This record gives sequence, structure tokens and C-alpha cells, in this order.
Amino acid sequence: MRKTVKIVIIIRMMENRQNLHNHTLFSDGNFSWERIVDQAESSNLEIIGISDHYFTTKVFHDVSLQGWLSNDLIRYLKLSAEGREKKRAGATKILWGMEIDTCLERLGCSLFELPWNKLNSLDFILFEYIGEKDIGGMDLNPKTMEELRANCRIPAIIAHPNIDKLDYYYGLENAFDIFGKFGFAIEIPAGCRNKWYWHRFDPKVLYKVNISIGTDTHEVLSEVGNITKALNFIQSNGLSDRLLKFT
Ligand SMILES: [Zn+2]
Repeated sequence: MRKTVKIVIIIRMMENRQNLHNHTLFSDGNFSWERIVDQAESSNLEIIGISDHYFTTKVFHDVSLQGWLSNDLIRYLKLSAEGREKKRAGATKILWGMEIDTCLERLGCSLFELPWNKLNSLDFILFEYIGEKDIGGMDLNPKTMEELRANCRIPAIIAHPNIDKLDYYYGLENAFDIFGKFGFAIEIPAGCRNKWYWHRFDPKVLYKVNISIGTDTHEVLSEVGNITKALNFIQSNGLSDRLLKFT
């Protein structure tokens, strides 16, 4: 009996049950970060990542960029510092990140003008729409990705990558070579919100990069723990070692 329990625990730990993409009331999510963490704990996640939006006009309508920087960002960083210190009874590790819209127009400035000295105090950054030129996302090329990596010194993840567009604009092998070379991990979409591409594309391309799991939780709390499909995909393709680890 005891042995069985031990084996179950070891298997669980090897699974790297993580979800690094969850929004809270701070941006456009429906729940407090505490409720997201509680849900993660009851879903036996090892790692939960809070990843609210950085300023983007698609989310923050009633505040200017300057106002957001001097009030909201400070509040978020304070929240993350307090959240880290708060002793939690559960075993789930809590990480604090942010999701950055890479469209210049919606962001209000260049990615290289962001307050990286502050952002680098977080645990990770999600970048959305990289390579999605049709909707304003940053062009994917080695020079800009290298420059971005020089600014962003913490784990960087491509949020909900649109594999069709990356393949169309850049060629998938080439795109993933660039991500791999400059240390950008790729999010494997879990849950119901984001599109699944990996039944149409060869998962072998994922051996070039590190990966993370994210559900992009907004309105549905049960999404926090909805990672089984993504985990099964990762395990059945021998990609478990590629999952980001935070020690
Ligand atoms: Zn998101």
C-alpha cells in the first residue's frame, strides 16, 4: 500500500503538471489570483503561473499607457511580491509572469522600451502574436529576437503560437530554429480557449525548443487544471524533458 502511494507521487512529480497561462481580475480574468491558486492546488498542479496582461489597448481601455505604468504595473509587481511571500499550505509552486502583446500600436511603444529592469523581477514572460504580421505582431527574425532576449533575461515563452501563420510566413523549421537559438519556449495549448495544431504538424519540430503548458484561463475556473490532453501529447511524443522547470 505504502509502496503504491510512493510510486503515484513519483509519477506525479515526473509529469511536471504545470499551467503557466492564467489571467486574473488584474487584467481581463474573472477570478482573483488566490482562487486560481486554490483551483491549481485542487487540480494537483505542481506549478501555477499567473500571467496577466501588460498594457495593451486590447485589454486596458480606460487608462493611458503612462497611467498604467505609474499605477497598475506598480500594483501588479507589489501583488506578485506579496503573493510570493504568502505562505500557502498546498504543494503548488506559484510563479508570477506577464503576457506582452508584441503589436507596437497596441503596446504603445517598442518592446525594447519596456521597463525591463522591473519586468525581469518576474518569473517569466509570455509574448503573444510574434510572427503574426497580419494582426500587428512583431516580425520574427534573428536580429530582433536576439535583441529581445538581451532585454528579457527571464524565461520567455511564445503564447498560443499560431502554427499555420508561422509556417506560412517563415517556414516552421526556420521559425523554430530561431525560437530555439534565442531561448524562446513554445506554449502547448491546453484547455478549450486556444486552437490545437499538433494533429496537422509534425511534433518533431518541438525538439528544437523548450515548451510550457498554458490554458489561457479567463472566464472558466476549471480550465486551470485542464491540462490532460497537452500532458498526454507531451508524454507520448517524448517531450517531457523539454518542459520548462523552475527550481
Ligand atoms: Zn493570455
